Amino acid sequence: MDLKTLTIASALEKMRKKEFSATELTQSILSEIDKKQSLNAYITLTPEKALNQAAESDKHYHQNTPRLLEGIPIAVKDLFCTHNIRTTAGSKMLESFIPPYESTVTARLFSNGGIMTGKTNMDEFAMGSANITSYFGPVKNPLKKQHSTQDLVPGGSSGGSACAVAADMCLGALGSDTGGSVRQPASFTGTVGLKPTYGRCSRYGMIAFASSLDQAGPMTKTVKDAALLLQAIGGFDPMDATSSQQTLPDFSSACTASVKGLKIGIPQEYRVKDMPEEIDHLWQKGIEWLKEAGAEIHYVSLPHTSYALPVYYIIAPAEASSNLARYDGVRYGFRAEGKSLKEIYKNTRGQGFGAEVQKRIMIGTYVLSSGYYDAYYLKAQKIRHLIKEDFKNVFTKVDALLTPSTPGAAFEIGGKQDDPLSMYLNDIFTVTANLAGLPAISVPAGYDKEGLPLGLQLIGRAFDESTILTCGSVIENQSAFLTHAFKKEN
Ligand code: GLN
Repeated sequence: MDLKTLTIASALEKMRKKEFSATELTQSILSEIDKKQSLNAYITLTPEKALNQAAESDKHYHQNTPRLLEGIPIAVKDLFCTHNIRTTAGSKMLESFIPPYESTVTARLFSNGGIMTGKTNMDEFAMGSANITSYFGPVKNPLKKQHSTQDLVPGGSSGGSACAVAADMCLGALGSDTGGSVRQPASFTGTVGLKPTYGRCSRYGMIAFASSLDQAGPMTKTVKDAALLLQAIGGFDPMDATSSQQTLPDFSSACTASVKGLKIGIPQEYRVKDMPEEIDHLWQKGIEWLKEAGAEIHYVSLPHTSYALPVYYIIAPAEASSNLARYDGVRYGFRAEGKSLKEIYKNTRGQGFGAEVQKRIMIGTYVLSSGYYDAYYLKAQKIRHLIKEDFKNVFTKVDALLTPSTPGAAFEIGGKQDDPLSMYLNDIFTVTANLAGLPAISVPAGYDKEGLPLGLQLIGRAFDESTILTCGSVIENQSAFLTHAFKKEN
């Protein structure tokens, strides 16, 4: 049996039946990581920790006390602070930062028996859509276009996590999503990416990019696995003031529920200009699959959609400029010397941050500065409110929305690099869910004409991840997406 290709759900079942041990599974993953180092998916590997945790899991299996994710090797985006393990956020600024504490989601992962294989590569401070802004170099998508040897981006900013899942270098991964960073790389790599409702997963110990938008989320091979991972990491945390007290439903059972009678909205505004025909075609297929399974289709309108991207690219940099003010060379992280305090700040921030992060800090500082605050930041906040209202209205009529995940498939490393607008356009379908705080999932649904995966997105009501997991499972089953051998095997 090829252990590294298993899904989380089937590995758990097989370990419960003692078909193999957590140590064997972990070893199989570690050796795959070793073989695929050239993909640059990981920044830091933690094989010793992984094997210790695996030994612990084997004890639990032996005593018949397995926990929710017992013995499952998981890759962790290098944005989550891990106690005594280097956490860089993909930046020179934190190249040698060793957190003295554990983030809540990683702590929950471990207390549920999850095993950490290492910390994955990412766009610097999670700013990007291609994983090319990392101080530790770009990540390569394990997939290529048909008849081509060109390296493609895995998407971003959780590109290392997506790559690790797609290339069997873990069974599942943690990512973070501020404007699409879990869903877009999932779509580019043929994997599943779930952004939970804002407040569902604690942000404690997660390095901040834009605090009102950031959410941790699972990246997996199947919808069921995403449900399992969310079950493990979600829930109230007194350490995060925005954490919700809502109880966690049983997400796994949502994956086998019926869509009969569910109302699915198709927002017209997501049919953007110049959208490739194949994306439109895939969207149509998604509509048919849900209809065949018994859902009702309704064409709906979210009138402020076209403002979402500009609003996001005002609010996210504004919050980033304030969050990243802490990296001053004095408290922790990289420090460059200077003759005065001001010079220390200037040199530290000038040398410690990469170009994209500097650009965002400048945009953010500008839109927050007196004189421009009202024209940009305040205006953006008002439109954000209208975007939220659009969703509120639509969710009185439908239970979930179906849209494409991205306006295109993975592109070449180096492509779009000098064209920030086309890079930012990657997020056109994903940022709305962050602005409104809603749960959304990207599920692999088909391929483009060059054989690259494409995802469909489902957006749900706040704290109703269950419905999008149900609909996502239908898409997954109907599309018979076969990037991974596991679909046939498990
Ligand atoms: N690509 C978006 C950005 O660059 C989203 C990033 C994210 O979700 N972390 O801001």
